Amino acid sequence: MAYPQPRCPQCGAQLRLITKEKRWFCDNCQTYVDVLPLEHTSIKGTSEGRRGFSERLTLMIILMIAIPMISWLIWYLILLSRLRFP
Ligand SMILES: [Zn+2]
Repeated sequence: MAYPQPRCPQCGAQLRLITKEKRWFCDNCQTYVDVLPLEHTSIKGTSEGRRGFSERLTLMIILMIAIPMISWLIWYLILLSRLRFP
């Protein structure tokens, strides 16, 4: 198998490719399942998932760095204003 087989969204069983109709068939549900085109089925899903995860991770890191920095900046400004203008 060149491509990993997609799974049925209803029962989770591996789908069978009907080459005549170029569609996926679930033997368990006895129904055709319309999934993404063959070439992109698994590759697209994983890359999008990874991208989403990394985006979330960077956002978390930015927040973890930015929030203390902003709070420290505010404290610094408060201290400065109190020192200079008592
Ligand atoms: Zn199924």
